[in-house]
Amino acid sequence: MAKERLYLFDTTLRDGAQMHGVDFTLADKLKVARLLDELGVDYVEAGYPGANPTDTSLFSEDRGTKAKFTAFGMAKRPGRSASNDPGLAQVLAAKADAICLVAKSSAFQVKVALETTPEENLASIRESVAAAKATGREVLIDCEHFFDGYKEDPKFALACAKAAYDSGARWVVLCDTNGGTLPHEVEAIVGEVVKQIPGDHVGIHAHNDTEQAVANSLAAVRAGARQIQGTLNGVGERCGNANLCSIIPTLLLKKDFASRFDINVKPEALKTIAQVSRTLDEMLNRAPDRHAPYVGDAAFTTKTGIHASAILKNPATYEHIAPESVGNRRKVLVSDQAGRSNVLAELDRIGVTIEKNDPRIARLLEEVKDREARGYSYESADASFALLARRVLGKVPEYFSVEQFDVNVEQRYNAVGERVTVAMAVVKVKVDGETLISAAEGNGPVNALDVAFRKDLGKYQPFIAGLKLTDYRVRILDGGTGAVTRVLIESEDEKGDRWTTVGVSPNIIDASFQALTDSITWKLLNSNVPA
Ligand SMILES: [Zn+2]
Repeated sequence: MAKERLYLFDTTLRDGAQMHGVDFTLADKLKVARLLDELGVDYVEAGYPGANPTDTSLFSEDRGTKAKFTAFGMAKRPGRSASNDPGLAQVLAAKADAICLVAKSSAFQVKVALETTPEENLASIRESVAAAKATGREVLIDCEHFFDGYKEDPKFALACAKAAYDSGARWVVLCDTNGGTLPHEVEAIVGEVVKQIPGDHVGIHAHNDTEQAVANSLAAVRAGARQIQGTLNGVGERCGNANLCSIIPTLLLKKDFASRFDINVKPEALKTIAQVSRTLDEMLNRAPDRHAPYVGDAAFTTKTGIHASAILKNPATYEHIAPESVGNRRKVLVSDQAGRSNVLAELDRIGVTIEKNDPRIARLLEEVKDREARGYSYESADASFALLARRVLGKVPEYFSVEQFDVNVEQRYNAVGERVTVAMAVVKVKVDGETLISAAEGNGPVNALDVAFRKDLGKYQPFIAGLKLTDYRVRILDGGTGAVTRVLIESEDEKGDRWTTVGVSPNIIDASFQALTDSITWKLLNSNVPA
């Protein structure tokens, strides 16, 4: 049986940009559009021309994507003609392959929010579609509040959808704008809609307010819809939009969908999705969700010894898909619950080959347990674990030694009479018999120490030039200011490789310093730098 085509519509750059803390520049938008295009989505909804200068200039030239570059706007306002609506005119003038216009489809919303009549609203949909079609572009109508509207007044909601389709909209997109609809309701309502409008003209736009945006999207497809709208990492207003980073792997890897549908994302491109997800988080300057399905760092991570030994025998025992198929990786945690099999699996992953009954494995396990009792945690600090393992096996060169460091925090009045706190650090490090001294200021003591430390490492400097800290987490163990502090530092290099290191001490500066030292050492070791 021939497979049916399912279309993916990404709105990271439009609806996703509604999220608190998201502020894309023009360059950011072009970069995300390129990522999405390489991934293979069918539509990239990139913004709302006329709404802000960034989006207006984004649509001022042809962006040449394979995906349909889509401009978003509002259907014409009631009480004026389409040709006399300046907002609509800006959208219609955009350099775009497709135009997506949002229109109301709930009788309640029409009356309360739009303050117009049902007839006026239907006329607005028809005229807006006609005006957009007249520009020769593909037209989509987002039926706002469709599901809530359908529950109040199914006839009116359907009439709005039908008006869009009958006037020539390529897609009629059913929006769960408030995000409160449940999967069984979506399935039932879409089932009714596709009796009136062919399913291959119906789309679903779900929000995640009951954490079911992905489930609602799949329910709509099961009922007959053939376009899914969503965003990378589910970014979006409030609780976000349907997460394409979960939907795409599901469509390609789960038999019920994979056997029935074709999408434009190919298996090769699927292998980049974990990286795409991380790139977006990085642009938004937020730490990736470790527990995100498919793409999260912990998605294929196993902690307990029994699971780990089973996974070593056959990964299918505790994995629902192969991690590599989505560009992720299997990880077996080393923790005080761990047995030999965890350690063996982790050694294997970091490329250390060792005989199964080598006595050094027992020594390493002892060392891990001892350190964990003191507050270290190697569960996420993969690089610190790898260094520890290689040290026990005698395989870490001493690239540098820090002879002394000094961190100074001072609060004083600045030149304009404001009270400011400044931090300064001096680091004295020995490389190749030569003593190098660097000083730096920072917005805090750890920042100053980090900048000074990485300022001059002599002949190793070129190898750490692209290193940057992407996350810094502090945890106080056993409470109180006299307690032990655990610091986890996540670093990244110019190739996008990430690693995490750990430090523990009663002193937060000292704990941070250990984690920084491990991070730099790991980078040098990983770059195969000879000592
Ligand atoms: Zn939305």
